[in-house]
Amino acid sequence: MIDLRSDTVTRPTPEMRRAMAEAPVGDDVFGDDPTVHELEALAADTLGKEAALFVASGTMSNLCAIMTHCGRGDEYIVGQNAHTYRYEGGGAAVLGSVQPQPIENAPDGSIPVDKIEAAIKPDALVFAKTRLVCLENTIGGKVIGPEYVDEVADVVARHGLAFHLDGARLFNAAVALGVGAGELARPFDTVSICLSKGLGAPVGSVLCGPADFIERARRWRKVLGGGWRQAGVLAAAGIIALRDHVDSLADDHEHARLLADGLTRAGFEVDGPHTNTLFVTIDARAQDEIADFMLERGVQIYVRGPVLRLVTHRDLARSDIEKVVESFEAFAGS
Ligand SMILES: *Cc1c(COP(=O)(O)O)cnc(C)c1O
Repeated sequence: MIDLRSDTVTRPTPEMRRAMAEAPVGDDVFGDDPTVHELEALAADTLGKEAALFVASGTMSNLCAIMTHCGRGDEYIVGQNAHTYRYEGGGAAVLGSVQPQPIENAPDGSIPVDKIEAAIKPDALVFAKTRLVCLENTIGGKVIGPEYVDEVADVVARHGLAFHLDGARLFNAAVALGVGAGELARPFDTVSICLSKGLGAPVGSVLCGPADFIERARRWRKVLGGGWRQAGVLAAAGIIALRDHVDSLADDHEHARLLADGLTRAGFEVDGPHTNTLFVTIDARAQDEIADFMLERGVQIYVRGPVLRLVTHRDLARSDIEKVVESFEAFAGS
């Protein structure tokens, strides 16, 4: 199967499985799993932060971050299309008693700086306390540029707020810009990265930030049921993902480019590629038929309305991309 539904579908490599089998482990709730420590140190170092916390998912990572930055009755400013706001079940409100203040994203994925500033509530009895601004990079595959982030960082600093980055795909942004992930992480107090997306680990995210913050986040992770024991078997795969799987994201971006070009040539309306992601607008017939048509040709896509999101990843070869283009050409001609 050629699976374009997401970059989460990658399978652990034989090297990962071997490392998982051989990982030295301890009990991470007691704080003595050496492989978890190694991953956390590597992540903190890579992102230029003091400390890191290995967690089960990006959702848990962002939630731990928001609950540590904000208390009951506080609010955080977030993009309307951001994962933390839109695709995490409202966790900040449901479990953290933290109110989101969503703001419409601009087409490039940024949140206009003046709108962020205008949304910050004055200190008055009637308002929730604005504590935090969250950005996402990449967002919908789109890279958020460092100059824009610096502008937001100025507003954040002027108002004494905290600054969190959902960097589930931060390494895609770093590779696309040709800079280190640490450079993109620098303006933020805390950064969450996913190991289980394009980096190819089977499980896990890492929340990075100041040491005292990470200790408080560790407590929320436990409260959320995320304290885990011999988690070193998972961290072992995460170490390989973070250490060895960053550079090949450039291949995923190249494959997305080939796919976008091929589908455009086949007459489809394509938005992108944005790093490893592209969007294809399809008509009503296609919405009903295209998934089955592709499946018969060994191509898996996820159809949810008139805009298909296709995502490339490290388990796809160039020949797979060519086969996908041929399948779309066949669909267009059918
Ligand atoms: C995938 C993702 C997350 C969280 O993912 P989990 O599925 O909970 O691991 C958070 N933010 C963004 C931008 C993501 O793409």
